[in-house]
Amino acid sequence: MKVPLLDLKAQYRTIKEEIDKKLIAVAESQYFILGKEVQELEKTIAEYINCKFAVGVSSGTDALLIALMAVDIKPGDEVIIPTYSFFSTAGVVARLNATPVFTDVDPVTFNMLPSDIEKKITKKTKALIPVHLYGQSAEMDEINAIAKKHNLFVIEDGAQAIGVDYKDGRRAGTLGHIGCFSFFPSKNLGCFGDGGMVTTNDEELYNKLKILRVHGSKPKYYHKIIGGNFRLDEIQAAVLNVKFPHLDKWSEKRRQNANLYTELFIKSGLATKEGLTDYSEKVLLPKPVYKSDKLKNYHIYNQYVIRVKNRDKLRDFLKEKEIGNEVYYPVPFHRQECFTYLNCQDSDYPVSNDASENSIALPIYPELTNEQISFVVDSIKQFLG
Ligand SMILES: *Cc1c(COP(=O)(O)O)cnc(C)c1O
Repeated sequence: MKVPLLDLKAQYRTIKEEIDKKLIAVAESQYFILGKEVQELEKTIAEYINCKFAVGVSSGTDALLIALMAVDIKPGDEVIIPTYSFFSTAGVVARLNATPVFTDVDPVTFNMLPSDIEKKITKKTKALIPVHLYGQSAEMDEINAIAKKHNLFVIEDGAQAIGVDYKDGRRAGTLGHIGCFSFFPSKNLGCFGDGGMVTTNDEELYNKLKILRVHGSKPKYYHKIIGGNFRLDEIQAAVLNVKFPHLDKWSEKRRQNANLYTELFIKSGLATKEGLTDYSEKVLLPKPVYKSDKLKNYHIYNQYVIRVKNRDKLRDFLKEKEIGNEVYYPVPFHRQECFTYLNCQDSDYPVSNDASENSIALPIYPELTNEQISFVVDSIKQFLG
């Protein structure tokens, strides 16, 4: 049985008619830049996460970049981020000639470790970028308390976390000063290329983000500040407007798939419970730490990530069985060649090192069948059991 890591064609088939109609409508209109589709999407996302303002941008990476520009990150400033994330989170900081400073991550959620932040704060620290990794919120109350105490901006990297609820139901993207989202095709809400969104409740930041999106011009051709071309295309917004009404259903299906994986891993005897970290069992299962009866999107499972010893041999085995899998992420930032100039101490990041060496993401996309999930777990049992 073939189990791809992701099957975008399966999703497209379910909404093909609507999507195709919309694509043709955009073609007929020949209106491609900052029109009604982008406006509609901005309104939709702002309402969905319960936030005052949203600005469509060209990618999740550009969302992070424009957010840092909006809070005036300058050369020499320091920005504290987790060392375990997609490269963008670090890249955007370095591209502004600011210095990324890394924390380790929590051993259960793989999110920024709050207890690591304060020891990294210096006079140069200007901002924190917590990442809501795999689709579960970072520990934002603790992070915000530290930020407030030291007068720092909080930029949320919510690229994997559209619609995610935190504790009391406040949503990712409204918990810091600016929220950043990605519509890369593999995210829970993905377009037909690159796209992103920044969100904020601060009107001043909102106005600045809109100006930065169009090269810093206001009025047109007059520049008080320097921005870039950070626009979201109409055609991408149109695709997202068609897909959005399905988002909650898709995230729910991912959650059901995750629950089934967890149930089957426990039944198989490879694990006994979620969130263990000490390799006392063959498979370490992810744990949704904010799970409660009151929250729907306590986790949206952009990824379902387990940890095993012998990860790379398991990957070879799964590949032979045609079971898709991936490692997010094999090299934490402090081990990246491009950041050797930061002289990081490898032993400061034990959890991230462990995660990068032993974690493996399994197929979790909404259209996955229960039979496929069983086959994945059976195959892993065959290898480890
Ligand atoms: C996908 C992702 C990004 C970058 O988004 P793009 O749209 O691909 O530029 C940033 N941070 C994290 C955590 C991501 O998963």
